[in-house]
Amino acid sequence: AKAAGGDTHVFFDPTLSRIAEHRRQLEKDLRQALHKEEFVLFYQPVVDLHARRLVGAEALIRWRHPERGLVSPDAFIPLAEQTGIIDEIGLWVFDSVCRQISAWRAAGHDYRISFNVSGRQIPDGLSPEILAETLRRYAVPPQSIALEITEGVLLADVDQARAWLDAAHGLGMRVYLDDFGTGYSSLSYLKRFPVDTLKVDKSFVLDMHDDGNERTLVEAIIAMGRSLGLDVVAEGVESAAHADLLRHMGCHYAQGYHFARPLPVAEFEAAAGHIAAQ
Ligand code: C2E
Ligand code: CA
Ligand code: CA
Ligand code: CA
Repeated sequence: AKAAGGDTHVFFDPTLSRIAEHRRQLEKDLRQALHKEEFVLFYQPVVDLHARRLVGAEALIRWRHPERGLVSPDAFIPLAEQTGIIDEIGLWVFDSVCRQISAWRAAGHDYRISFNVSGRQIPDGLSPEILAETLRRYAVPPQSIALEITEGVLLADVDQARAWLDAAHGLGMRVYLDDFGTGYSSLSYLKRFPVDTLKVDKSFVLDMHDDGNERTLVEAIIAMGRSLGLDVVAEGVESAAHADLLRHMGCHYAQGYHFARPLPVAEFEAAAGHIAAQ
């Protein structure tokens, strides 16, 4: 039975106001972190499974917090999205990626770098004009850049997402569909958006060996990608057995702890020469 007026206490719940206070503080900290330049990008190598060659990396943000140490994106990106600070953080990410590509090109490395775009950044936070202007400023060839978006972004506002993606793709940047397989209506969306590459979600790859269903699913995604003329990147490749199986299934590219964790630039550069042979 339901007690009458039983939820009145919710308005005075001290835990709720503590959570609200904590969020306000985190929001303030995030703004400061931008100005104090506490964010840093790590780069996780992506390898060509067949040529056994390093082809590029995914840029993944971290927060070097003065007291808390290295903070993972899962601990602050969701709030940054809710509060809108993601626009500024996202601009910083794109600028940093372009600057880094330009530095690597000057050193003779032609890597393709992908980075994650939140739905909130579309269409104004990272407008096609800003994309074009930044590419020009750093003299970065657009095909050296890939935008990682999730299905959720496409679903939120289909027309808006398509207009934005068409513009970005029209500039020559690649479009990767991230966490593929975790959402729905994937097939119809693939036809309606300018997608170049599927990233098989790591949850499927991680379970491939113990679970026949996951294995079948990964195989199906790879086959589907190939028949649609899309590249496929498997993430979460943690062992040589994973890499061998994926290679066998015809998967083009892989990323995961087996090859390397996301690395700070200096470590990425030090490891670059011997990453892909495994
Ligand atoms: P994601 O885009 O799906 O990135 C892949 C995550 O898997 C990364 O976590 C990466 O470190 C982790 N990973 C890589 N290889 C392996 C592996 O072999 N095994 C396992 N178990 N995990 C692996 P990370 O760096 O903590 O990032 C978490 C999420 O935060 C990302 O998921 C992405 O959604 C978001 N994120 C990261 N950087 C940014 C950014 O610059 N902007 C936005 N909007 N989101 C970001
Ligand atoms: Ca990603
Ligand atoms: Ca992913
Ligand atoms: Ca994810």
